Amino acid sequence: MTVNALFVGSGRDWDTYAPALIAAFARLPRHVVLKADHAPDTVDYIVMAGSHIIEDFSPFIRCKALLRLWAGVEDIVHNETITFPICRMVGGGLDQGMVEWVVAHVMRHHIGMDRHILGQDGIWRDGFVPPLAEDRPITILGLGALGTACARALSALGFPVTGWSRTTKDISGIRCLSGPVGDALTQAQGVILLLPKTPDTEHILNAETLAKTAKGAFVLNPGRGPLIDDDALLAALDSGHIAHATLDTFCTEPLPDSHPYWAHPSVTVTPHIASATRPRPAADVIANNLQRGEEGRPFLHTVDRTAGY
Ligand code: NDP
Repeated sequence: MTVNALFVGSGRDWDTYAPALIAAFARLPRHVVLKADHAPDTVDYIVMAGSHIIEDFSPFIRCKALLRLWAGVEDIVHNETITFPICRMVGGGLDQGMVEWVVAHVMRHHIGMDRHILGQDGIWRDGFVPPLAEDRPITILGLGALGTACARALSALGFPVTGWSRTTKDISGIRCLSGPVGDALTQAQGVILLLPKTPDTEHILNAETLAKTAKGAFVLNPGRGPLIDDDALLAALDSGHIAHATLDTFCTEPLPDSHPYWAHPSVTVTPHIASATRPRPAADVIANNLQRGEEGRPFLHTVDRTAGY
């Protein structure tokens, strides 16, 4: 029997992901037909990149699951017309990509790379010795798939890493906390946000919590823009309490060109590129979950609709 998979995304998403998905589906025992235009009442699975295209999912009467190509689900998780499981992307190159982005930006701030990269002006800037990693405590808010991978990578480089999550974790070499976020931020010299956007995480970094960090700390936000109270961060940057913020995600994307982040000397803006879903490994994740559905096994990476992620 044929399985119909509906691809939801832009033309660019189709060009990027469809070839790898078609190849992965071809390795499954069932014949899976991936198209962008199946009739809703014939669809068995929705493979979704972008979400803006469908608001009412009620015509998808036989759909078994929505298989997301992205990690974030804040745009669909509260859609009550989705009555089937939502599975988000875990793996698919996201973890490795995020580790590489986070480690690169941590090391930039840690060893003070800008001092030499931006200062090719004939001035011999010696005399600055950065602390060793072991003397630079770093806190990661969010110890999920990505936060845990980054925590392990930074810990392997010698940084004392504190991780904070909703439920208590036990990860070797990482100081794992839950409870008041201020406890996790106290004296942190680097803060990395890898939380989902939910009502509970909005403005988790605000004037009060920023004040807990060590003076001169850096902030990386590859999580979601609303995790940060922008006014509070700008004030902390202006006062020098926060030395630098490298921001990949924003409340409005693309970041409007009038936004003060663009012109601020202590802010680096990157355009939501910290970690992209990579087609080949992501297609394997999607195909594996589809096959589980066909075998009547539980789906992997299902979203908790109540928690919102
Ligand atoms: P996970 O769902 O695996 O992890 C989320 C983590 O946040 C979990 O540890 C969870 O706690 C914690 N958390 C959620 N709510 C709270 C809360 N109220 N208080 C404390 N901790 C909380 O997500 P991923 O690691 O896969 O991804 C994290 C985020 O990264 C995504 O939601 C997305 O926004 C962003 N992202 C950004 C990308 C980019 O390119 N910029 C690319 C991919 C993802 P617990 O473990 O207890 O559930």
